[in-house]
Amino acid sequence: MKLYVESDVKPEVLTGERIAVLGYGSQGRAHAMNLRDSGFDVVIGLRPGGATSAKAQNDGFEVLSPKDAVSNAGLVAFLVPDMAQSKLYDEIKDSLKKDITILFAHGFNIHYKQISPRGDLDVVLIAPKGPGDLVRRQYEEGRGVPCLIAVAQDATNNAHSRALAYAHGIGGTRGGVLDTSFGEETETDLFGEQAVLCGGLSELIVRGFGTLVEAGYQPEVAYFECMHEVKLIVDLLHEGGLAKMHEFVSETAKYGDLTQGPRVVDDHTGEKMKEVLKDIQDGTFANNWVSEYESGLPEYNRLLEEDIKSKIEIVGKELRGRMSWLKN
Ligand code: NAD
Ligand code: MG
Repeated sequence: MKLYVESDVKPEVLTGERIAVLGYGSQGRAHAMNLRDSGFDVVIGLRPGGATSAKAQNDGFEVLSPKDAVSNAGLVAFLVPDMAQSKLYDEIKDSLKKDITILFAHGFNIHYKQISPRGDLDVVLIAPKGPGDLVRRQYEEGRGVPCLIAVAQDATNNAHSRALAYAHGIGGTRGGVLDTSFGEETETDLFGEQAVLCGGLSELIVRGFGTLVEAGYQPEVAYFECMHEVKLIVDLLHEGGLAKMHEFVSETAKYGDLTQGPRVVDDHTGEKMKEVLKDIQDGTFANNWVSEYESGLPEYNRLLEEDIKSKIEIVGKELRGRMSWLKN
């Protein structure tokens, strides 16, 4: 494992170059503000009249069309949604200078060949391991969210150093920057969000809630137990792993955890996780997602609607409305 820190950075490889940040959402805003505070010349590229143009302008940035933003840039960061990136690349590719660096925060489009970059470009990845607001907040506090770094194409013979200088500009070297490949970052990121973080955890919560409600317990009690209290446990896991979680829950909770947990999440779940991973590795998931996006997201919207209308959401909304401290 190779972890890069501030003393590994060669800032001169990016000094004086203009950085174009395409997109001003979760990551785009955080990267742009951190880079500017680190002394870089940053310009924002956005579709004219898009929702975030005003925001970027209010934050004091020069906002241009994507084509104009990239035309003088030495590094271009693609921070629009993954499904919008290949169309955006096609729009701007002829406006990119020669021998510059294009940068991604997630490897999807390069790994699954949705974008085939020009041969004279560096193609690099700086993937912060946290949401954009945290990337900004940690930077302001003198800390930094750790990042992953990878190089898919090295046209300048400096691609890795240039990516590292960018990571340094967003605060990543304060937390540490870890070498990976586009393939490893993309596949582990998709697996994590599908099997564990977004998919696995939310299914576990919804099924736990449903089991209690079906057995006749009050939905409000079930909500507190299966949804609300997740945060307490996740915070302990985040701060100190399984050991800290065990230290802070009761003896009875610990005995229940150790003996009953493996009854719920068992070998069957393990097999299903392997199937999910296989679909990620062989491109099945990526193909499905791209064609769903291209056909206007019918299934995605249907499933989203179902989630929002479910009982746990109705009960939760009501209860959270009474907890004023949750409002922000
Ligand atoms: P986002 O959804 O917050 O980005 C929105 C921005 O993109 C806005 O400025 C919007 O105007 C613009 N945009 C939206 N649709 C567009 C379109 N069709 N064409 C052009 N511009 C469009 O994006 P994000 O969540 O910051 O993700 C950006 C990249 O960062 C992605 O590659 C994502 O995988 C990666 N990433 C995100 C996170 C995260 O926490 N959100 C974490 C790590 C990596
Ligand atoms: Mg992810």
